[in-house]
Amino acid sequence: MKTVVAMIVVTMLLAACRSQSPKQQPANAPAPPLPAGQAVSAQTSVNDDPCAIQLTNIEGALLQYYMLNHEWPAKLEDIQSFGDALDPIVLTCPTSHQPYVYNPTGLVSPTTRKRLLVYDPTPAHNGGRFCILLSPQESGKGMAMAVELLAEKEFKKFVLPLQP
Ligand SMILES: [Zn+2]
Repeated sequence: MKTVVAMIVVTMLLAACRSQSPKQQPANAPAPPLPAGQAVSAQTSVNDDPCAIQLTNIEGALLQYYMLNHEWPAKLEDIQSFGDALDPIVLTCPTSHQPYVYNPTGLVSPTTRKRLLVYDPTPAHNGGRFCILLSPQESGKGMAMAVELLAEKEFKKFVLPLQP
């Protein structure tokens, strides 16, 4: 069952990637419904900045790793085997040329319930950083991942949690 769910999520990820290419899928195609009982889902909500695309690939690989191992990898290098020639896992920001920062516990902020898992090492994108954020679901079951561009002001509010 776990494998099936992982495959469904991966399919959704691929669909999300394809939808950025106008000739492969109608722009207004409805997203497939989320399968019931899914622990982690992924969504893409950023533009086609190369850094955001790289982080979307990292997001997908993290998800695959989580489905297989039931925990986040200790370091980002552990997910590089999930990449392929079409979508390689690149761990360096194409703008700052510095490696992404990863915290498997997730940084917390007093202004959001989201946790910050991966982020740009510097505010290299017009004063903002692309990030992978985990959000707890309203239902209390599972969480969603998304790549977002955080303004430096918002990013600075994230700190290490006192308790994981
Ligand atoms: Zn970047």
